[in-house]
This record gives sequence, C-alpha cells and structure tokens, in this order.
Amino acid sequence: MTEPVRQRRSCGGVLGTLLVVGAVIVGTVALSPSLALTDLRDAAIDPIVGVPGSGGDGYTFMATTPRGTPVTWPCDGTIELEVNAQDAPEGYAELVASAVAQVNDASGFVLEVVGETDDREYQERGAGPVLLMWADESEVPELAGRTAGIGGSSYVQGPGGGGRAVGGMVVLDTDMPGGLLRRTDPGPVLVHELLHVIGLGHTEDPSQLMAPEYSSQRGLGDGDLAGLQALRDAACS
Ligand SMILES: [Zn+2]
Repeated sequence: MTEPVRQRRSCGGVLGTLLVVGAVIVGTVALSPSLALTDLRDAAIDPIVGVPGSGGDGYTFMATTPRGTPVTWPCDGTIELEVNAQDAPEGYAELVASAVAQVNDASGFVLEVVGETDDREYQERGAGPVLLMWADESEVPELAGRTAGIGGSSYVQGPGGGGRAVGGMVVLDTDMPGGLLRRTDPGPVLVHELLHVIGLGHTEDPSQLMAPEYSSQRGLGDGDLAGLQALRDAACS
C-alpha cells in the first residue's frame, strides 16, 4: 500500500502533463515458502518515489538492499505479465505490446504477456505474474487527481542481504482529468510504470521518462538508459 505522489513543478505549460507515480508495493524476508509480505508505506510517503541518492546521473533505484544494490529481477528468465482488460482502452493490446517491446529493447530484461486475467488485486502482490489493469480512483485511490498510473514490484530479501523482484503491478487511470488521456499518448506512461516494475525510481531530471511528471518526453533519455544498464549489471553480476 502506498500513498500517491503529487509533486508539482512550477514550470510553464503544465497542461498536457500527466503525473506518473511509482509504488514499491511490498518488501519481505524470503526463504519461507509463504512470503511474509510487509508494508512499505513509509517508503512511499516521501514525495520522491525511489531511494534518494541511489543510482547515478539522471536515475534512481526504486528500492535498494542492505548491501546497497538495487532491487531488480533475475538476470535470466522472463517477467510474466498478465493483463486485466476490464475498462481497457480500445487498442490496448497493441499499446501493451509496443510498451513491452520498448522496455525489453532498452533494459535487456524480458517482459512477456502471458495471458489475460480477472485478477484486480493490485495491493497485495506476492510472487507471480505482474498484473496490468486499468481503473479509476474509486477503485484505486492512488489514481486521484492528476496521477496517470502507478507501478511497482514486490520483492523478496534474503538473509544475505540480497534482494530480487518476484511480482508486481501497473494500474493505469481510465479517467484522466480534462480528457488528458485522449490528447496524450498513454504509451509513455505505461513504459514509465513498467520501468518502476523493472526497478527504476524517479529522477529529478525532467528530461528523463522517469521524471515524476510526464511532459512530452520522447522515449528514454540517457539517464533512463544508464539506470536500466545499472539494473542489468546488478542482476547479472
Ligand atoms: Zn513514476
């Protein structure tokens, strides 16, 4: 469970921007068949989603382990994604495929849509497929106001101090204030949320896609790419 982030920037031309929010949903101690998932509410009250000071130039990590390494997915294997198409926009399958391809190309990780689901449990995600769904703020209060989406991973942490992602979720807002979604390509918002799932937090650099506000960034910036490389290095080292 997390709190939404409503960080506003005092730059002009705010119209057309969408707030995109990341959420680390759960962390836990592993080595138990039943994952004792705990709440990271404290980590998300901070207006910066991610670990301040982690990462490098133009990027942060969503979560870090006691060793100081970023939490991300295993080097090998696929990250399974299940889609709940309830209230999804027309053409959502193409949107998802396009976003997944972009994330895979940029990250080296392999997200794969494995099917559709009726599951709408976005808070208590344990190990298993990453859930992608659409909702409004009546169901997902984190989507209130200008928030366009939320995303994050659940992860396990071992006694040796390592950690790895084992599940997660992305929820995209069906109800953009002022019809912003109709005027703004939702693809970048989905990519942004999927990068939270992979392990990137927010950056203060507004030119990066992982900035907390979407302001017509085109594709991934140098900081986004460097962050993904760092996650890949951590996963495969
Ligand atoms: Zn975000």
